[in-house]
Amino acid sequence: MSHTYPDTQLLINGQWQPAASGKTMPVHNPATGEVIGRLAHAGKEDLDRALAAAEKGFAIWKHTSAHERQATMRKAAALLRERADAIAALLTQEQGKPLAEARVEVLAGVGIIEWFADEALRLYGRIVPARRGDVQQLVIKEPVGPVAAFTPWNFPVNQIVRKISAALATGCSFLCKAPEETPASPAALFQCFVDAGVPAGVIGLVYGDPHEISSYLIPHPVIRKITFTGSTPVGKQLAAMAGAHMKRCTMELGGHAPVIIAEDADVALAVKAAGAAKLRNAGQVCISPTRFLVHHSLEKAFTEQVVAYFESIQVGNGLEAGTTMGPLANPRRITAMKSLVANAQAQGAKLLLGGKTLGDVGNFYAPTVLADVPLSAEVFNNEPFGPVVAMRTFDQLDEAIAEANRLPYGLAAYAFTRSLKHAHQLSQQVETGMLWINQPAVASAEMPFGGVKDSGYGSEGGSEALEAYLIPKAVSIAMV
Ligand code: NAD
Repeated sequence: MSHTYPDTQLLINGQWQPAASGKTMPVHNPATGEVIGRLAHAGKEDLDRALAAAEKGFAIWKHTSAHERQATMRKAAALLRERADAIAALLTQEQGKPLAEARVEVLAGVGIIEWFADEALRLYGRIVPARRGDVQQLVIKEPVGPVAAFTPWNFPVNQIVRKISAALATGCSFLCKAPEETPASPAALFQCFVDAGVPAGVIGLVYGDPHEISSYLIPHPVIRKITFTGSTPVGKQLAAMAGAHMKRCTMELGGHAPVIIAEDADVALAVKAAGAAKLRNAGQVCISPTRFLVHHSLEKAFTEQVVAYFESIQVGNGLEAGTTMGPLANPRRITAMKSLVANAQAQGAKLLLGGKTLGDVGNFYAPTVLADVPLSAEVFNNEPFGPVVAMRTFDQLDEAIAEANRLPYGLAAYAFTRSLKHAHQLSQQVETGMLWINQPAVASAEMPFGGVKDSGYGSEGGSEALEAYLIPKAVSIAMV
């Protein structure tokens, strides 16, 4: 089956258009290294038009009824479902993940848009008893205003879906700088909203130089809220800029998820749930299981099973049938993997599997297992964002919890135990935004999604995600 890949333009005021300067950038296929398309590179003139459109779009959308917003969003979700196969093929070509995973990402997006659309109907305010009989006190929830969103390349569709859905459900307009490395699937997602009838200006999509665009949009008076998903160092810079300009923000940043496999764990389940989840999107997931802390009595069983599972993985071009893990999304990740594995080995870790690139073309890296990793190894401190299990053992659960909490990150954590007492202890003591016990991550629209400490603040799921785009207005009316 042959696949085509389009060039990508900017979406400004309802029109797809080239950059005013005519500047473009190449897009590479990470499985082949080939240039497969080009995308428009926005400059200041394009951003000024996009901002003016977002201001106009906000004036329209905030006065559009919740029922109409819900219906339009549901139409967009239906179009996304219809186009899932075609969009998944774009996503795989530009990002690398296997086609089946790309399809799951797109279809998960459909569910998220639908959930947020329906929540638009339940954005209730309050009537608060007043201190005088002739006064009525109201709390009205209003949309915060035009939103600037910055999203990364690991889930090109879904990182946008969570943000655009909350923004549109609450009545905000939405201007997105999507990832330059994976531009076509985001553009196809936006097309679903355009075709569903979202008015011109309510949504905008730009690409270009990330630093230039964020430095221009965040301080701009039209923009009232910032939402960013990406690395902790960049998140801190953007949050500082947002703070300097008194802009509200949501930061979904890096993690380093501990996986605690307690003495009473079901080892096969831990391998199936956390081991398999480790290789999803070749490990390039902010909630990827990363520091494997295994009770010493289970070390042999867990190691053997995880190595056997990793050996069964078929690494290849995500478009080919049978591929279960694709390439890394860009050459930077290969450099990072080589350095992390070499550093761990130099510090005494045992390489049980992988630890090498595969093939001559594309960014392929073998599923890798490192055991006896010292706490000082970089892989146990910096988010690997790749297909590496880094493992060490523990004796007491308290020790494992202390290790889980040692790092400044606190996004996701996993634990495997058959004991309800241990499950309670873990849920109370692990410093994390999300904890999954005896299961892989199930990131649903209805549950909060976000981190603590250096992993950021705010939530991209549950009712908390909508609150992030709303401001409460206190209105007190005296009858005359
Ligand atoms: P990076 O720090 O250069 O960029 C991360 C993301 O932020 C990219 O999408 C990039 O376009 C964007 N970005 C960078 N500078 C920006 C700026 N000044 N303004 C606005 N956006 C900006 O790193 P990278 O090499 O692309 O990815 C490496 C690391 O980033 C990973 O190891 C991981 O820790 C993190 N990351 C996290 C997520 C996530 O889901 N939380 C996604 C992608 C990358």
